[in-house]
Amino acid sequence: MSSLQISNARILRQGKLIGTNILVADGRIRSLTRHDDLNVDRTIDAKGRIVLPGLVDGHAHLYDPEFTYREDFTSGTIAAAAGGVTTVVEMILTTPVDSPDRVQEKIEEGRRSSIIDFSLHAGMMNTGNLPNIPAIAKLGVRSFKTFTCKPYYADDHTLKSLMRETSMNRSILDVHAEDEDVANENLKKLQAEGRKDPLAHSEWKPNLAEERAVKKLIQMAQGIGARVHISHLSTREAVAAIRKAKRGGVKITCETCPHYLTFTRKDMKKQGPYLKMNPSLKGPRDVDALWRGLRTGTVDIVTSEHAPGTRDEKEPGWTDIWKAWGGVPAIETMLPVLLSEGVNKNRLTLATLERACCENPAKIFGFYPRKGVLQEGADADLVIVDLKMKRKVKAAKLHQKVGWTPYEGWTLKGWPILTMRRGQILYKENEILGKPDGAEFLPMNI
Ligand SMILES: [Zn+2]
Repeated sequence: MSSLQISNARILRQGKLIGTNILVADGRIRSLTRHDDLNVDRTIDAKGRIVLPGLVDGHAHLYDPEFTYREDFTSGTIAAAAGGVTTVVEMILTTPVDSPDRVQEKIEEGRRSSIIDFSLHAGMMNTGNLPNIPAIAKLGVRSFKTFTCKPYYADDHTLKSLMRETSMNRSILDVHAEDEDVANENLKKLQAEGRKDPLAHSEWKPNLAEERAVKKLIQMAQGIGARVHISHLSTREAVAAIRKAKRGGVKITCETCPHYLTFTRKDMKKQGPYLKMNPSLKGPRDVDALWRGLRTGTVDIVTSEHAPGTRDEKEPGWTDIWKAWGGVPAIETMLPVLLSEGVNKNRLTLATLERACCENPAKIFGFYPRKGVLQEGADADLVIVDLKMKRKVKAAKLHQKVGWTPYEGWTLKGWPILTMRRGQILYKENEILGKPDGAEFLPMNI
């Protein structure tokens, strides 16, 4: 039995920081105590720094095995560990994960290659693969991804069928919510005008696209009683609609991502196609509403929506934005961005950050209380953070494969300095110590 003690830690309890030692045995938290245990194999002195549960990233594209030049399970989870993330729910990109066999293959891939514990979303769902939902849910994958727009457009009838089927199988329907009709109308207009500049992309699917789709999904979820999760929320209108829906008892949850909290479409003037993503960046009032939504609990979680493309895939967008890859690397910078731009700028309390990045995602995706909380019996997944450490972001020093970041040159205040997964140190002061051996697939207990 291996044991270790993290001494002089500060952890959150009922919104307040308290001093404690954290005793870890066999990968789990054995106790939180003020007493020193002298019989442990090893002690790590946290020196009064804050310890958070390891972050649970509910939405990240790790691309394995299809686009490993952008990222793979190992590189993506190394970057995750360096960013304080100890659990990831991998999101499908183009290779379908929509049958029990495909799910099983992906689980095996994760077990072989991931350095952190992981789960999976299944998808992209439509009428063809809907009959596979019960068998996939039985494997422990209980989150099914679909779209209200291209490239995986599901019509209203399909959306309702998916909601019924996921409901019957104690699962979530996870939706990319932008209205297809709004997008089509705008696309026609933009094409007629010959628009190819970076901002044309954000005019394609404006606020109205997300608002319409979210409102439609709310209505459907209400009628069916389904659990619907909205991916990467980007607009103030959608935040308002979800607030109202939650008050009315609709079982809807939602996420936003670091980029929607830190950039607006204006930043595309400087960064151009590097900030192309789906949904597109919106305006300052949307950014404010998303921060406020997090504070009030309307926005349940922050996910990285890690979706890096290479420079070669971004560069063509300067002359033709439609040709650029949409998505940004984000898994490694998520926590420092939230500590710096959220906690240290008084937009978020540390307690809200912990709720949005640890507790809530663990609850929504069914890993709680094994993950997302520092308490006796939970996995010893944790991150020691230095809230005062200032460091300039340099892509060359990050572990994400693509070698660029939209935060290049930003001085962020607040960084993870040690990340532990089930008692094993994965990352310590710029050094990666974790290896792809023994990552566990986490079935969703929803
Ligand atoms: Zn995504």
